[in-house]
Amino acid sequence: MTAEQRITHWIGGKPWDREGARTGDVHDPATGRVAARVDLADAAVVDEAVAVAREAFTRWRGASLAQRANVVFAFRELLNARKDELAAIVTAEHGKVLSDAAGEVQRALEAVEFACGIPHLLKGGFSENASTNVDVYSIRQPLGVVGVVSPFNFPAMVPLWFVPNAIACGNAVVLKPSEKDPSAANFIAALFAEAGLPDGVLNVVHGDKPAVDRLLEHPDVKAVSFVGSTPVARYVYETGTRHGKRVQALGGAKNHMVVLPDADLDLAADAAVSAGFGSAGERCMAISVVVAVDPVGDELVAKIVDRVRGLHVGDGRRPGCEMGPLVTGAHRDRVLSYVDAGVAEGATLVVDGREHPVDGEEGGFWLGPTLFDHVGTGTSVYRDEIFGPVLSVLRVASYDEALEVVNANPYGNGTAIFTGDGGAARRFQHEVEVGMVGVNVPIPVPVSYYSFGGWKDSLFGDSHAYGPDGVHFYTRTKVVTGRWPDPSHGGVNLGFPRNT
Ligand code: NAD
Repeated sequence: MTAEQRITHWIGGKPWDREGARTGDVHDPATGRVAARVDLADAAVVDEAVAVAREAFTRWRGASLAQRANVVFAFRELLNARKDELAAIVTAEHGKVLSDAAGEVQRALEAVEFACGIPHLLKGGFSENASTNVDVYSIRQPLGVVGVVSPFNFPAMVPLWFVPNAIACGNAVVLKPSEKDPSAANFIAALFAEAGLPDGVLNVVHGDKPAVDRLLEHPDVKAVSFVGSTPVARYVYETGTRHGKRVQALGGAKNHMVVLPDADLDLAADAAVSAGFGSAGERCMAISVVVAVDPVGDELVAKIVDRVRGLHVGDGRRPGCEMGPLVTGAHRDRVLSYVDAGVAEGATLVVDGREHPVDGEEGGFWLGPTLFDHVGTGTSVYRDEIFGPVLSVLRVASYDEALEVVNANPYGNGTAIFTGDGGAARRFQHEVEVGMVGVNVPIPVPVSYYSFGGWKDSLFGDSHAYGPDGVHFYTRTKVVTGRWPDPSHGGVNLGFPRNT
């Protein structure tokens, strides 16, 4: 890519062909250079996309289930054939290493595959003769134009959590991806067009707050799916619902991994390092806190340190790299400020990521894996979502204390317990106030035929993302009570209809 490269909106089945007023820089995080500029939509561009989507919806809602499923299936085939290209786009703009980006695209494919089964998923109920000669049945219908607003950390997967289900259900979509890594969304939109999706059913509008605000206010946008940080998720939920929309807003996280004394500590250390530092900690399901139950602390920390020191940090395109840079210089600096804060707050800095060797250009947004031990729950390192390669170890005396820590945290996205005791694991899954729980599994992202979502400050709304909840979110139910003319009708009756 060159600095002249311009990334623009995709509206009505083609790239937008006008000049925008504002643009944003898109970096190559591994070099720190500006790789492209992305158009940032104002309200007028959003209005244009919504109008095009609304028009497309009037026809798309009438497409048969077979036709809609065929388009999603064709998209699945194209994406599978070109998944390496999409992974390379993700690495170039996000910075995560290629193997990790390939994993992201694979999980995205699973969400697409789920939507291929839409004819089955949209089946309603039917009750013959609910009352004498009266049949009752339910049908699920699309909402209209729906908005999808996605974060920077999964530029391919998160849009594909939502878009396939939304369009398979018969809606038209305006997708507003993160302005930090916008190209994956355009690749997806172009592939949908190639798969036969009619123009205007999927539109991509690039931008930041003004674009999101317009989607939240626009009377023709019926629902918004949002993923991002908690303050913005809360704002999106409150603003969208105030404007009468259906909103699901997934927020940030602070995911705890509880390690009980009977756990396999090598397995636990492998898991903590993989889930703590994969994608440089820029995952909403990253483990950011290890809760070590006495007496495992010293041994577990030693095992984690061994593994962390050996991590190969560098340009995600280079062979063997396991952890890439952070997404932007500003974000890297913010994460760095937490390293200083942790030290000032009295936590023990066991591994200092600022000193980790880097296999990449000097200007990249680097920070190596950082490990704090003896972290207190009152510190900012514990309290805040850092969203970087900083792992904290908290020491507690018992299972009960560990549970108390996890449940007292305002976030409730993911958590994991490491133990050899099935009874303890069952107790944990029952007692913990978190939406996604792993048992000896550090990143329990549900498969595509369940749904993804946290509790408490990690999700605003009542529907989780993708899977059955996704289909529920993107449709509304209609119930029909019908009788076909029968010569033996009973005449006029002003009483409330009774089932006889
Ligand atoms: P972010 O909240 O900064 O941005 C998310 C989206 O909202 C982007 O499209 C952005 O342009 C837009 N946005 C930003 N500020 C806005 C504002 N003031 N008003 C309206 N729109 C605004 O999040 P991010 O930095 O892109 O992503 C990282 C965050 O996302 C982390 O907190 C992470 O935990 C969270 N996340 C959560 C999940 C989940 O499923 N719960 C998944 C992935 C990421």
